[in-house]
Amino acid sequence: MKEWGISGATILTPDEQLKGMNLEIKDGKIDRITKEKVKSPLAISFDNAVLTPGLINAHDHLLGTYYPKVGNGPYPNWLPWDNDLKSAPVYQERQQIENRDLYLLGGYRNLISAVTTVADHIPHFVSAPFRGILPTQTIENYALAHSIASFALAWGDSIDVEYQKALREDIPFITHIAEGFDPETVQDLKTLDKKGGLGDHSVLVHGIAFNEEDIKLIKQKGASVVWCADSNMFMFNRTANVGKMLEMGVNVCIGTDSPMSGGINLLYEMKFDKMLFKKMYRKDIPNEMILSMVTSNCAKAFKMKKNGQVKSGNVADLAVFADRGRTPYESVVNAELKDVLLVVIDGRPVYGGAEYSSLFDSLRIDYQRLVVDGADKIIAGDLRGLLQRIRKAVGFKKEFPFLPVEFDD
Ligand SMILES: [Zn+2]
Repeated sequence: MKEWGISGATILTPDEQLKGMNLEIKDGKIDRITKEKVKSPLAISFDNAVLTPGLINAHDHLLGTYYPKVGNGPYPNWLPWDNDLKSAPVYQERQQIENRDLYLLGGYRNLISAVTTVADHIPHFVSAPFRGILPTQTIENYALAHSIASFALAWGDSIDVEYQKALREDIPFITHIAEGFDPETVQDLKTLDKKGGLGDHSVLVHGIAFNEEDIKLIKQKGASVVWCADSNMFMFNRTANVGKMLEMGVNVCIGTDSPMSGGINLLYEMKFDKMLFKKMYRKDIPNEMILSMVTSNCAKAFKMKKNGQVKSGNVADLAVFADRGRTPYESVVNAELKDVLLVVIDGRPVYGGAEYSSLFDSLRIDYQRLVVDGADKIIAGDLRGLLQRIRKAVGFKKEFPFLPVEFDD
């Protein structure tokens, strides 16, 4: 791919703000961040925009991408929710759609919300057929368990075998944990530790029942936690003690979970989490911290050494947002779908405002024109074809609030 560049945007690395700097992309990587004019004639320039690392959605189940939410909580743990889901008419409706198309739907849901990588938590044999066809990247190398209690689904090998694999290959070990309040689930962290699954490669999703002692142990072991607040509140009317985790310096990431229990998309989730944090702790979680929780903290948790930060040599996974806030950080956390101006994956623009079509043309990237959330956009791939197949499968034009798109035919 040709070299190209971006100028005019305030760059959030995310730890620092760089104003008046330009960014050059070469061979899928961030080549240079410079005050000088972009060398390549192929450059797009922004006024009033904020550039960040591409967002990382730390927890999702792409196969579960559908709408609306199903459930009648609060539940004691995830199992009765799963039973309610699977007996719901909307689940039957979803089942008419091919797995490949549910995967693509999940990919587009994430892409238009500026997500360049999704942690799709599922056994590898389920997701393997769809690698390489999705509009966003997924974390491919990870060890896993479904969850910790005796009623866990049989995902992966035993916890100790999976954790050893994570250590050997320096990949994350991802599991749901402490998602509920029954006597067994509240002991999940201790059980995980006893089984040899707790350490600096552990990515602990939910942790609603973690107490202060658990949080201390997590910090001591260097594990990461994924906060899925909207999903937790919907299913359990409670969420993890993130205030204590942040106070103790635990590495916390934000995930949406699937839209059948969780947030509409990661942009919504950031705002929801900020609002909920204020309600729970009567203080603000800084926007800078929220941005880290969807970028650098995730890269750390998932052992993505060349992601999550805008710096030369890193993978050019990038997002550009309209600068509408009082600060650039606020612009990102408060962004709506229409404010996503450009998404770049591996140095390749894949989604953005229609005004940047000449960049896509010059780089020979095929795209479709569409209106997203009232704004003219272009998107790589065949979203139009996907929505037509879904319409045919379910027999009507299904509306997805996470994909408010219109094509002009
Ligand atoms: Zn989950």
